[in-house]
Amino acid sequence: MPVKIITKISLCQKHVDSLRKQGRTIGLVPTMGALHEGHLSLVKKARGENDTVVVSIFVNPAQFGPGEDYKKYPRAFAGDKKLCEKEKVDIVFCPAAGEMYPGKDLTAVNVEGLTDKLCGRSRTGHFKGVCTVVSKLFNIVKPHTAYFGQKDYQQFLVIRKMARDMNFHLKLRMCPTVREGDGLALSSRNRCLSPKERTEARCLHRALESARYLIKTKRVSGAGLIISRMKAIINEQPGARVDYINICDPETLEDVKSVKGKVLVGLAVFVGKTRLIDNVVIS
Ligand code: AMP
Repeated sequence: MPVKIITKISLCQKHVDSLRKQGRTIGLVPTMGALHEGHLSLVKKARGENDTVVVSIFVNPAQFGPGEDYKKYPRAFAGDKKLCEKEKVDIVFCPAAGEMYPGKDLTAVNVEGLTDKLCGRSRTGHFKGVCTVVSKLFNIVKPHTAYFGQKDYQQFLVIRKMARDMNFHLKLRMCPTVREGDGLALSSRNRCLSPKERTEARCLHRALESARYLIKTKRVSGAGLIISRMKAIINEQPGARVDYINICDPETLEDVKSVKGKVLVGLAVFVGKTRLIDNVVIS
């Protein structure tokens, strides 16, 4: 069966309502497109656990700040459609911006607390945009389960909190980060890197691995010292600039001073003009 392309909210709702009436389970993979193996790992997981798999493709203007890369964000619909067909996706929901946001004064969904740290600190309003679009997608696609990647670890925690607080009746799954052979986390934004920047971008993974080594071997436990070592690794690359590096509690995202139990080490780095994020959880 070819993948069904739906661009209208009302059609999507009608379709999923009838699927639900037939007793079919629905898995949703929300994406911004320019699909890669990271996205496809979520699709495969959803395929294995649901009767119907819906992939949403929507570059959400509400989660980009002024001066960010909304216009330059990679768009590759023809290739995305082929990949979805190959993975036996049932429905691609790909609305236009005007379909999702028809008016000016938009009701927004905002999660407090978790969103003023890490990416939320450097991208004001980002998670408000994410939560608004994801809650709309939950109401449009009505999934039994929605799938997210660990690469956007904070996003997962924020969406989990939103789903609990707003009583969305669905399960959320976090799937492991898929990486290139040299450790770089797959990302649609990797397409924006020049060959030289692509080489420099290895420093994110190298910095995270150095933190893992220092923590695992108990060589250093002070978060400040680990962060300085990581910064030094990133600053060796002339095109790389640290946006943030945080070592924090993996549930509350509160910074830790010294590493005792499980921690999240998360970072965002500009390589040239492209902002990349990555993280590891270390116990
Ligand atoms: P995006 O299209 O970048 O908004 O990502 C859509 C979903 O795919 C999010 O849940 C991401 O966390 C997930 N994702 C992106 N990159 C990866 C990756 N390298 N490994 C696993 N999941 C990923």
